[in-house]
Amino acid sequence: MIDLLNFTLEQLTDYLLENNISKFKSKQVFDWIYKKNIYRFDEMTNLSKDDRAFLNEHCTIGLLMVKDQMTSKDGTKKFLLELKDGQLIETVLMEYTYGLSICISSQVGCKMGCEFCASTKLGFERNLTAGEMIAQIMTVNQTLGMSIDRVVVMGIGEPFDNFEHFINFIKIANDHHGLDIGGRKLTVSTCGIVPKIYEFADMKLQVNLSISLHETDDAKRNELMPVNRKYPVSDIIEACRYYIEKTNRRISFEYALIGGENDSDSSAKNLSVLLKGMLCYVNVIPVNKIAEGKFNYDKKKNIEGFCGILRKNGIMVTVRRELGSDINASCGQLRRSHIDGV
Ligand code: SF4
Repeated sequence: MIDLLNFTLEQLTDYLLENNISKFKSKQVFDWIYKKNIYRFDEMTNLSKDDRAFLNEHCTIGLLMVKDQMTSKDGTKKFLLELKDGQLIETVLMEYTYGLSICISSQVGCKMGCEFCASTKLGFERNLTAGEMIAQIMTVNQTLGMSIDRVVVMGIGEPFDNFEHFINFIKIANDHHGLDIGGRKLTVSTCGIVPKIYEFADMKLQVNLSISLHETDDAKRNELMPVNRKYPVSDIIEACRYYIEKTNRRISFEYALIGGENDSDSSAKNLSVLLKGMLCYVNVIPVNKIAEGKFNYDKKKNIEGFCGILRKNGIMVTVRRELGSDINASCGQLRRSHIDGV
């Protein structure tokens, strides 16, 4: 069965044409799915009987099964979602003053092996399709009956390691015939897959780019994030400068503060030097505990001192509000299954 959530409007038009269905029908089908929230072809009443029969026979609209749902003390909700092949992923809904933000997954598991991240601990299973990324938003929307304002692709997986499907997802999410989420309300985060940063820059999409940096020293970053052995810090920064030049968009650098590891005054100074003069800001995240993590999570983190040095050096900095850590829904805590966490 063909999952129609995988198609951009153009792709759906081509698919229907190939099957002798008029190209005008693709807009009608998109309208039923994305505007009227109708997922049964029999209810798409402006399609002919033959067209509906074809769609019933060959196509599906792949919403996901909610296997479990947890709510944090702060209102953050985490969903365990089952894909068609039985694989599990997690998706998180957070409430901010500006509205609801959803953090979606892009892969089942992750190959990148970041030391502080639970998503990689069970290894990598497969890429998500564009439709499975779209379906996370639609499934949560439908389950809660709420409308989502912002989407961040920061859940399980490295989106730039699943580039083609990720770009298709962005096109469908951003299309005003599709989910109609403005580009400025879409954010993608990468651990630094350098060639894809260049490719993304050349596409000039109005989508926010976030780099999971976490360390400026290559030897230490190699330990923390093995991807650094292939794409070292200087290469990432060069690619970021290219991105800014091409798009004139501000980049955010994520920096998970780990007490005693990367939170010293000298780390803050090195980060200031690295980012000096760049159109960017630093998002400091107090690192979250995971069951297999080797760091001393109880060590007090030098948040104020660290941020103060960045500000003194003219670097814009925000400290991310920690949401959902009591249900393991914070950054670095998502998994492709439920296990007894901490
Ligand atoms: S932080 Fe991101 S890239 Fe690194 S292992 Fe976790 S999901 Fe993968």
